[in-house]
Amino acid sequence: MAKVMAVNAGSSSLKFKLYEMPEEKVLCSGNAERIGHEDAIFGMKWGEESEKKILPILDHARAVELVVQAMLEKGIVKDMNEIVAVGHRIVQGGKYFSHSELFNKDTEDKIESLIPLAPLHNKAHLVGFRAFKQILPDVTNVAVFDTAFHQTMEPEDYVFPIPYELTEKYDCRRYGAHGTSHKYLAEMGAKYLPGVAHPRIISCHIGSGASITAIKDGKCVATSMGLTPLGGIMMGTRTGDLDPSVMNYLCKCTGKSVEEMYQMFNKQSGFLGVSGISNDSRDVLKAVDEGNKRAILANKIFIRRIADYIGQYFVRLGGADLIIFSAGIGENSARTREEVCDAIGTAMNVVIDKELNASIRSKEALISKPESAIKVAIIPTDEEVMIARDTYSFYKKDK
Ligand code: AMP
Repeated sequence: MAKVMAVNAGSSSLKFKLYEMPEEKVLCSGNAERIGHEDAIFGMKWGEESEKKILPILDHARAVELVVQAMLEKGIVKDMNEIVAVGHRIVQGGKYFSHSELFNKDTEDKIESLIPLAPLHNKAHLVGFRAFKQILPDVTNVAVFDTAFHQTMEPEDYVFPIPYELTEKYDCRRYGAHGTSHKYLAEMGAKYLPGVAHPRIISCHIGSGASITAIKDGKCVATSMGLTPLGGIMMGTRTGDLDPSVMNYLCKCTGKSVEEMYQMFNKQSGFLGVSGISNDSRDVLKAVDEGNKRAILANKIFIRRIADYIGQYFVRLGGADLIIFSAGIGENSARTREEVCDAIGTAMNVVIDKELNASIRSKEALISKPESAIKVAIIPTDEEVMIARDTYSFYKKDK
Protein backbone atom coordinates (compact mmCIF):
# COMPACT_ATOMS: atom_id res chain seq x y z
CA MET A 1 0.00 0.00 0.00
CA ALA A 2 1.23 3.49 -0.82
CA LYS A 3 -0.23 6.97 -0.62
CA VAL A 4 -0.01 8.82 -3.90
CA MET A 5 -1.16 12.36 -4.61
CA ALA A 6 -2.59 13.65 -7.91
CA VAL A 7 -2.05 17.38 -8.33
CA ASN A 8 -3.29 20.01 -10.73
CA ALA A 9 -1.47 23.30 -10.16
CA GLY A 10 -2.86 26.44 -11.77
CA SER A 11 -1.44 29.96 -11.63
CA SER A 12 -3.39 30.76 -8.44
CA SER A 13 -4.76 27.37 -7.45
CA LEU A 14 -3.69 23.90 -6.41
CA LYS A 15 -6.12 20.99 -6.65
CA PHE A 16 -5.16 17.72 -5.00
CA LYS A 17 -6.45 14.22 -4.37
CA LEU A 18 -4.75 11.63 -2.20
CA TYR A 19 -5.11 7.94 -3.10
CA GLU A 20 -4.28 4.71 -1.38
CA MET A 21 -2.67 2.70 -4.16
CA PRO A 22 -2.98 0.23 -5.75
CA GLU A 23 -6.55 0.06 -4.33
CA GLU A 24 -7.32 3.48 -5.84
CA LYS A 25 -9.15 4.45 -2.66
CA VAL A 26 -9.64 8.22 -2.40
CA LEU A 27 -8.47 9.33 1.07
CA CYS A 28 -9.09 13.04 0.64
CA SER A 29 -9.34 15.78 -1.97
CA GLY A 30 -9.24 19.54 -1.95
CA ASN A 31 -8.23 22.81 -3.43
CA ALA A 32 -6.26 25.91 -2.53
CA GLU A 33 -7.65 28.92 -4.41
CA ARG A 34 -6.59 32.56 -4.72
CA ILE A 35 -2.95 31.67 -3.97
CA GLY A 36 -0.97 34.92 -3.70
CA HIS A 37 -3.72 36.63 -1.66
CA GLU A 38 -4.24 37.37 2.04
CA ASP A 39 -7.78 36.00 1.73
CA ALA A 40 -7.03 32.77 -0.08
CA ILE A 41 -9.34 29.76 0.32
CA PHE A 42 -8.33 26.29 1.43
CA GLY A 43 -10.85 23.47 1.26
CA MET A 44 -10.56 19.75 1.87
CA LYS A 45 -12.96 16.78 1.92
CA TRP A 46 -12.25 13.47 3.58
CA GLY A 47 -14.76 10.69 4.16
CA GLU A 48 -18.05 12.38 5.02
CA GLU A 49 -16.31 15.44 6.41
CA SER A 50 -15.13 18.66 4.88
CA GLU A 51 -13.64 21.98 5.90
CA LYS A 52 -13.12 25.32 4.22
CA LYS A 53 -11.15 28.26 5.55
CA ILE A 54 -10.03 31.68 4.43
CA LEU A 55 -6.41 32.51 5.24
CA PRO A 56 -3.31 34.04 3.67
CA ILE A 57 -1.60 31.71 1.15
CA LEU A 58 1.10 33.79 -0.44
CA ASP A 59 2.70 31.16 -2.66
CA HIS A 60 2.39 27.57 -3.84
CA ALA A 61 4.95 26.29 -1.31
CA ARG A 62 2.68 27.56 1.49
CA ALA A 63 -0.28 25.84 -0.20
CA VAL A 64 1.63 22.53 -0.24
CA GLU A 65 2.54 23.02 3.44
CA LEU A 66 -1.14 23.54 4.24
CA VAL A 67 -2.15 20.42 2.30
CA VAL A 68 0.36 18.28 4.20
CA GLN A 69 -0.51 19.90 7.57
CA ALA A 70 -4.23 19.32 7.00
CA MET A 71 -3.64 15.67 6.13
CA LEU A 72 -1.58 15.21 9.33
CA GLU A 73 -4.10 17.06 11.52
CA LYS A 74 -7.04 15.00 10.27
CA GLY A 75 -5.09 11.76 10.67
CA ILE A 76 -5.28 10.99 6.95
CA VAL A 77 -1.51 10.45 7.08
CA LYS A 78 0.39 9.84 10.30
CA ASP A 79 3.71 10.98 8.95
CA MET A 80 4.35 13.03 5.84
CA ASN A 81 6.78 10.35 4.64
CA GLU A 82 3.73 8.18 4.01
CA ILE A 83 3.16 10.22 0.84
CA VAL A 84 5.50 8.40 -1.50
CA ALA A 85 4.74 9.96 -4.87
CA VAL A 86 3.11 13.00 -6.45
CA GLY A 87 1.72 13.05 -9.99
CA HIS A 88 1.43 16.43 -11.67
CA ARG A 89 -1.01 17.21 -14.45
CA ILE A 90 0.87 19.01 -17.24
CA VAL A 91 -1.22 20.60 -19.99
CA GLN A 92 1.40 20.77 -22.73
CA GLY A 93 3.97 18.04 -23.37
CA GLY A 94 4.63 19.12 -26.96
CA LYS A 95 6.35 16.64 -29.25
CA TYR A 96 8.54 15.35 -26.40
CA PHE A 97 6.18 13.25 -24.35
CA SER A 98 4.04 10.39 -25.60
CA HIS A 99 3.59 9.02 -22.09
CA SER A 100 4.05 10.10 -18.49
CA GLU A 101 7.59 10.73 -17.30
CA LEU A 102 9.59 10.95 -14.08
CA PHE A 103 10.08 14.59 -13.10
CA ASN A 104 13.86 14.93 -13.48
CA LYS A 105 15.95 17.85 -14.74
CA ASP A 106 15.40 16.89 -18.38
CA THR A 107 11.61 16.70 -17.93
CA GLU A 108 11.60 20.02 -16.11
CA ASP A 109 13.67 21.69 -18.86
CA LYS A 110 11.40 20.36 -21.60
CA ILE A 111 8.24 21.53 -19.79
CA GLU A 112 9.88 24.93 -19.37
CA SER A 113 10.78 25.08 -23.08
CA LEU A 114 7.10 24.45 -23.90
CA ILE A 115 5.88 27.50 -21.96
CA PRO A 116 5.33 29.50 -25.19
CA LEU A 117 2.77 26.85 -26.27
CA ALA A 118 0.83 26.98 -22.97
CA PRO A 119 1.99 30.15 -21.19
CA LEU A 120 -0.31 30.12 -18.17
CA HIS A 121 -0.55 26.40 -17.64
CA ASN A 122 2.99 25.06 -18.01
CA LYS A 123 4.46 27.88 -15.97
CA ALA A 124 1.99 27.18 -13.15
CA HIS A 125 2.64 23.42 -13.28
CA LEU A 126 6.36 24.07 -12.78
CA VAL A 127 5.65 26.36 -9.85
CA GLY A 128 3.52 23.56 -8.36
CA PHE A 129 6.20 20.93 -8.93
CA ARG A 130 8.93 23.11 -7.38
CA ALA A 131 6.73 23.78 -4.35
CA PHE A 132 6.29 20.03 -3.78
CA LYS A 133 10.01 19.47 -4.22
CA GLN A 134 10.68 22.08 -1.55
CA ILE A 135 8.20 20.70 0.99
CA LEU A 136 8.44 16.96 0.18
CA PRO A 137 11.99 16.63 -1.19
CA ASP A 138 12.17 12.83 -1.17
CA VAL A 139 9.03 11.80 -3.03
CA THR A 140 8.85 10.48 -6.60
CA ASN A 141 7.40 13.21 -8.82
CA VAL A 142 5.79 12.25 -12.11
CA ALA A 143 4.58 14.45 -14.97
CA VAL A 144 1.34 13.33 -16.65
CA PHE A 145 0.66 15.16 -19.89
CA ASP A 146 -2.72 16.17 -21.36
CA THR A 147 -1.21 15.90 -24.82
CA ALA A 148 0.57 12.53 -24.48
CA PHE A 149 -2.34 10.32 -25.58
CA HIS A 150 -2.63 12.27 -28.85
CA GLN A 151 0.99 11.70 -29.88
CA THR A 152 -0.05 8.61 -31.89
CA MET A 153 -1.72 10.78 -34.56
CA GLU A 154 -0.39 10.51 -38.13
CA PRO A 155 1.23 13.65 -39.61
CA GLU A 156 -1.78 14.20 -41.90
CA ASP A 157 -3.90 14.47 -38.76
CA TYR A 158 -1.65 16.89 -36.88
CA VAL A 159 0.18 19.01 -39.47
CA PHE A 160 -1.58 22.28 -40.33
CA PRO A 161 -1.48 23.29 -44.00
CA ILE A 162 0.84 26.25 -43.36
CA PRO A 163 4.35 26.64 -44.86
CA TYR A 164 6.10 23.50 -43.66
CA GLU A 165 9.20 25.40 -42.49
CA LEU A 166 7.00 27.09 -39.88
CA THR A 167 5.63 23.77 -38.68
CA GLU A 168 9.18 22.51 -38.24
CA LYS A 169 10.82 25.66 -36.91
CA TYR A 170 8.16 26.53 -34.35
CA ASP A 171 6.59 23.11 -33.68
CA CYS A 172 3.30 24.68 -34.72
CA ARG A 173 0.93 21.70 -35.09
CA ARG A 174 -2.06 20.02 -33.52
CA TYR A 175 -1.34 18.65 -30.04
CA GLY A 176 -4.88 18.28 -28.68
CA ALA A 177 -5.75 18.24 -24.98
CA HIS A 178 -7.86 16.27 -22.45
CA GLY A 179 -5.69 13.27 -23.46
CA THR A 180 -5.70 11.77 -19.97
CA SER A 181 -9.49 11.84 -19.98
CA HIS A 182 -9.83 10.35 -23.48
CA LYS A 183 -7.40 7.56 -22.57
CA TYR A 184 -9.42 6.78 -19.45
CA LEU A 185 -12.65 6.76 -21.46
CA ALA A 186 -11.15 4.45 -24.09
CA GLU A 187 -10.00 2.02 -21.39
CA MET A 188 -13.38 2.12 -19.61
CA GLY A 189 -15.28 1.85 -22.90
CA ALA A 190 -13.48 -1.33 -23.95
CA LYS A 191 -15.76 -3.43 -21.74
CA TYR A 192 -18.74 -2.58 -23.98
CA LEU A 193 -16.94 -4.07 -26.99
CA PRO A 194 -16.13 -7.69 -26.09
CA GLY A 195 -14.88 -9.66 -29.08
CA VAL A 196 -14.49 -6.57 -31.29
CA ALA A 197 -11.11 -7.11 -32.99
CA HIS A 198 -10.24 -3.47 -33.66
CA PRO A 199 -12.46 -1.29 -31.48
CA ARG A 200 -13.33 2.13 -32.89
CA ILE A 201 -14.39 4.66 -30.27
CA ILE A 202 -15.46 8.29 -30.57
CA SER A 203 -15.10 9.88 -27.13
CA CYS A 204 -16.81 13.20 -26.42
CA HIS A 205 -15.38 15.04 -23.42
CA ILE A 206 -17.92 17.84 -23.20
CA GLY A 207 -17.52 20.20 -20.26
CA SER A 208 -16.75 23.89 -20.10
CA GLY A 209 -13.77 22.89 -22.24
CA ALA A 210 -14.76 20.29 -24.81
CA SER A 211 -13.00 17.95 -27.20
CA ILE A 212 -13.78 14.91 -29.30
CA THR A 213 -11.29 12.14 -30.05
CA ALA A 214 -11.25 9.26 -32.54
CA ILE A 215 -9.65 6.16 -31.02
CA LYS A 216 -8.75 2.92 -32.79
CA ASP A 217 -7.27 -0.09 -30.98
CA GLY A 218 -6.93 2.08 -27.86
CA LYS A 219 -4.83 4.71 -29.67
CA CYS A 220 -5.76 8.26 -30.63
CA VAL A 221 -5.95 8.77 -34.40
CA ALA A 222 -7.51 12.25 -34.41
CA THR A 223 -8.62 14.88 -31.92
CA SER A 224 -10.55 18.12 -32.21
CA MET A 225 -8.45 20.54 -30.14
CA GLY A 226 -5.51 22.03 -31.99
CA LEU A 227 -2.27 23.81 -31.18
CA THR A 228 -4.07 24.90 -28.01
CA PRO A 229 -7.44 24.05 -26.42
CA LEU A 230 -9.04 26.84 -28.48
CA GLY A 231 -9.59 24.57 -31.50
CA GLY A 232 -12.33 22.06 -32.26
CA ILE A 233 -15.96 22.24 -31.14
CA MET A 234 -17.60 25.30 -29.61
CA MET A 235 -17.19 25.53 -25.81
CA GLY A 236 -18.34 27.53 -22.78
CA THR A 237 -16.27 30.59 -23.67
CA ARG A 238 -14.08 29.40 -26.57
CA THR A 239 -14.88 29.63 -30.24
CA GLY A 240 -13.59 26.25 -31.38
CA ASP A 241 -12.63 26.08 -35.07
CA LEU A 242 -12.80 29.39 -36.97
CA ASP A 243 -11.86 30.60 -40.41
CA PRO A 244 -8.45 32.18 -39.57
CA SER A 245 -9.39 35.32 -41.49
CA VAL A 246 -11.94 36.13 -38.76
CA MET A 247 -8.98 37.25 -36.64
CA ASN A 248 -7.64 39.60 -39.31
CA TYR A 249 -11.06 40.99 -40.24
CA LEU A 250 -12.23 41.65 -36.68
CA CYS A 251 -8.91 43.23 -35.65
CA LYS A 252 -9.31 45.67 -38.55
CA CYS A 253 -12.99 46.34 -37.79
CA THR A 254 -12.62 46.86 -34.05
CA GLY A 255 -9.09 48.25 -33.79
CA LYS A 256 -8.30 45.56 -31.22
CA SER A 257 -4.88 43.91 -31.16
CA VAL A 258 -4.32 40.27 -32.10
CA GLU A 259 -3.75 39.52 -28.40
CA GLU A 260 -7.01 41.21 -27.37
CA MET A 261 -8.93 39.35 -30.05
CA TYR A 262 -7.27 36.08 -29.04
CA GLN A 263 -8.46 36.66 -25.45
CA MET A 264 -11.94 37.34 -26.80
CA PHE A 265 -11.92 34.06 -28.73
CA ASN A 266 -10.82 32.24 -25.57
CA LYS A 267 -12.85 33.96 -22.87
CA GLN A 268 -15.85 35.72 -24.35
CA SER A 269 -17.01 33.46 -27.18
CA GLY A 270 -18.72 30.07 -27.36
CA PHE A 271 -21.93 29.71 -25.33
CA LEU A 272 -21.27 33.01 -23.58
CA GLY A 273 -20.54 34.99 -26.72
CA VAL A 274 -23.37 33.70 -28.89
CA SER A 275 -26.09 33.62 -26.21
CA GLY A 276 -24.95 36.74 -24.35
CA ILE A 277 -26.26 34.95 -21.25
CA SER A 278 -23.73 32.60 -19.72
CA ASN A 279 -20.88 30.21 -20.36
CA ASP A 280 -22.77 27.57 -18.37
CA SER A 281 -24.90 25.35 -20.58
CA ARG A 282 -27.49 25.01 -17.78
CA ASP A 283 -28.25 28.74 -17.98
CA VAL A 284 -28.30 28.67 -21.76
CA LEU A 285 -30.65 25.68 -21.88
CA LYS A 286 -32.98 27.40 -19.41
CA ALA A 287 -33.08 30.41 -21.72
CA VAL A 288 -33.75 28.08 -24.68
CA ASP A 289 -36.86 26.88 -22.84
CA GLU A 290 -37.92 30.49 -22.35
CA GLY A 291 -37.66 31.06 -26.11
CA ASN A 292 -34.52 33.24 -26.07
CA LYS A 293 -33.43 33.38 -29.73
CA ARG A 294 -29.70 33.76 -29.14
CA ALA A 295 -29.69 30.94 -26.61
CA ILE A 296 -31.49 28.76 -29.15
CA LEU A 297 -28.86 29.67 -31.77
CA ALA A 298 -25.97 29.01 -29.37
CA ASN A 299 -27.33 25.57 -28.55
CA LYS A 300 -27.92 24.75 -32.21
CA ILE A 301 -24.33 25.68 -33.12
CA PHE A 302 -23.04 23.61 -30.20
CA ILE A 303 -24.99 20.49 -31.22
CA ARG A 304 -24.08 20.93 -34.89
CA ARG A 305 -20.36 21.24 -34.15
CA ILE A 306 -20.41 18.09 -32.02
CA ALA A 307 -22.41 16.15 -34.63
CA ASP A 308 -20.09 17.32 -37.43
CA TYR A 309 -17.01 16.12 -35.57
CA ILE A 310 -18.62 12.77 -34.75
CA GLY A 311 -19.48 12.40 -38.47
CA GLN A 312 -15.93 13.31 -39.47
CA TYR A 313 -14.45 10.78 -37.06
CA PHE A 314 -16.92 8.10 -38.15
CA VAL A 315 -15.37 8.45 -41.61
CA ARG A 316 -11.84 8.72 -40.22
CA LEU A 317 -12.26 5.46 -38.27
CA GLY A 318 -14.04 3.63 -41.12
CA GLY A 319 -17.14 3.31 -38.89
CA ALA A 320 -17.55 3.30 -35.13
CA ASP A 321 -18.41 0.78 -32.42
CA LEU A 322 -18.92 3.08 -29.45
CA ILE A 323 -19.65 6.75 -28.79
CA ILE A 324 -18.90 7.96 -25.26
CA PHE A 325 -20.32 11.06 -23.57
CA SER A 326 -18.38 12.44 -20.63
CA ALA A 327 -17.46 15.54 -18.52
CA GLY A 328 -19.82 18.17 -17.06
CA ILE A 329 -22.26 18.41 -19.95
CA GLY A 330 -21.76 14.90 -21.37
CA GLU A 331 -22.37 13.28 -17.99
CA ASN A 332 -25.19 15.52 -16.76
CA SER A 333 -27.16 16.89 -19.67
CA ALA A 334 -29.54 14.21 -21.01
CA ARG A 335 -30.91 16.81 -23.37
CA THR A 336 -27.55 17.52 -25.01
CA ARG A 337 -26.92 13.80 -25.44
CA GLU A 338 -30.34 13.30 -26.98
CA GLU A 339 -29.96 16.27 -29.34
CA VAL A 340 -26.53 15.08 -30.50
CA CYS A 341 -27.83 11.53 -31.05
CA ASP A 342 -30.82 12.93 -32.99
CA ALA A 343 -28.43 14.92 -35.17
CA ILE A 344 -26.29 11.90 -36.09
CA GLY A 345 -29.05 9.25 -35.82
CA THR A 346 -30.28 9.03 -39.40
CA ALA A 347 -26.87 9.03 -41.07
CA MET A 348 -25.21 6.71 -38.60
CA ASN A 349 -28.14 4.52 -37.50
CA VAL A 350 -27.71 5.53 -33.88
CA VAL A 351 -30.73 4.80 -31.68
CA ILE A 352 -30.78 5.59 -27.98
CA ASP A 353 -33.30 4.71 -25.30
CA LYS A 354 -34.55 8.23 -24.63
CA GLU A 355 -36.27 7.38 -21.36
CA LEU A 356 -33.21 5.66 -20.00
CA ASN A 357 -31.02 8.54 -21.19
CA ALA A 358 -33.26 11.06 -19.44
CA SER A 359 -32.94 9.16 -16.17
CA ILE A 360 -29.13 9.09 -16.08
CA ARG A 361 -27.03 11.76 -14.41
CA SER A 362 -23.41 11.52 -13.57
CA LYS A 363 -23.14 7.73 -13.63
CA GLU A 364 -22.03 5.14 -16.10
CA ALA A 365 -24.68 3.63 -18.39
CA LEU A 366 -25.16 2.18 -21.85
CA ILE A 367 -27.97 4.25 -23.39
CA SER A 368 -28.14 2.85 -26.94
CA LYS A 369 -30.88 0.40 -27.92
CA PRO A 370 -29.88 -3.09 -29.09
CA GLU A 371 -30.79 -2.18 -32.69
CA SER A 372 -28.43 0.83 -32.72
CA ALA A 373 -25.57 0.38 -35.22
CA ILE A 374 -23.22 2.06 -32.73
CA LYS A 375 -23.30 1.64 -28.97
CA VAL A 376 -23.63 4.86 -26.95
CA ALA A 377 -22.41 5.09 -23.35
CA ILE A 378 -22.14 7.69 -20.62
CA ILE A 379 -18.89 7.30 -18.71
CA PRO A 380 -17.94 9.77 -15.96
CA THR A 381 -14.33 10.70 -16.56
CA ASP A 382 -11.59 10.46 -13.93
CA GLU A 383 -8.35 12.17 -14.88
CA GLU A 384 -7.01 12.09 -11.30
CA VAL A 385 -7.11 8.32 -11.02
CA MET A 386 -5.15 8.08 -14.29
CA ILE A 387 -2.54 10.43 -12.82
CA ALA A 388 -2.40 8.32 -9.64
CA ARG A 389 -2.05 5.08 -11.65
CA ASP A 390 0.84 6.35 -13.77
CA THR A 391 2.52 7.91 -10.75
CA TYR A 392 2.21 4.72 -8.73
CA SER A 393 3.73 2.64 -11.52
CA PHE A 394 6.75 4.99 -11.69
CA TYR A 395 7.08 4.85 -7.91
CA LYS A 396 7.19 1.06 -8.01
CA LYS A 397 9.88 1.11 -10.73
CA ASP A 398 11.80 3.88 -8.93
CA LYS A 399 11.81 2.12 -5.54
P1 AMP B 1 -16.54 20.46 -16.54
O1 AMP B 1 -15.70 21.48 -17.22
O2 AMP B 1 -16.37 19.08 -17.09
O3 AMP B 1 -16.46 20.51 -15.04
O4 AMP B 1 -18.05 20.86 -16.90
C1 AMP B 1 -18.64 22.01 -16.37
C2 AMP B 1 -19.86 22.37 -17.18
O5 AMP B 1 -20.79 21.29 -17.20
C3 AMP B 1 -20.64 23.55 -16.60
O6 AMP B 1 -20.13 24.76 -17.04
C4 AMP B 1 -22.01 23.30 -17.16
O7 AMP B 1 -22.10 23.97 -18.40
C5 AMP B 1 -22.08 21.83 -17.46
N1 AMP B 1 -23.13 21.13 -16.69
C6 AMP B 1 -23.03 20.60 -15.46
N2 AMP B 1 -24.21 20.04 -15.10
C7 AMP B 1 -25.08 20.23 -16.13
C8 AMP B 1 -26.44 19.88 -16.40
N3 AMP B 1 -27.17 19.22 -15.52
N4 AMP B 1 -26.97 20.25 -17.58
C9 AMP B 1 -26.24 20.92 -18.48
N5 AMP B 1 -24.96 21.25 -18.30
C10 AMP B 1 -24.38 20.92 -17.15
